[in-house]
Amino acid sequence: MRRRRLKSKRMRVDAEATAAMKYLDRRSYRLLDGREFVFGKDSSKRRQEIYERDMGMCQIKLPHVCPGRVLYLGGEWHHVKPKWKGGDDSLANGVWSCRRGHEAAHNRQPKWTRDRTAAIAKGLNTE
Ligand SMILES: [Zn+2]
Repeated sequence: MRRRRLKSKRMRVDAEATAAMKYLDRRSYRLLDGREFVFGKDSSKRRQEIYERDMGMCQIKLPHVCPGRVLYLGGEWHHVKPKWKGGDDSLANGVWSCRRGHEAAHNRQPKWTRDRTAAIAKGLNTE
């Protein structure tokens, strides 16, 4: 069972695209469907890229609790589409977030925040 799962994953890996990415960690890879999964130093690098692209501004913007700008050490990488739903570690699927907003995006939350998070997930500007 375990062997079969590993084999099927290996078959879906895009060896050429993975090599082209010049990953720093040998566990990082890209799949044939374009999804990307990063580990170790590649994961740290991606976190940094998300922080810089979003200029340290939380993208979840939970009303009343969001501080807006969050420093690198205090902020978090939020996967817009969770990995368990088929999301990946690509830059496009990541947003910078404050801790409270990130928690709210993943835990039980009131409907008004859920709607807001869902709007962000669809790439809509809710401002
Ligand atoms: Zn926030």
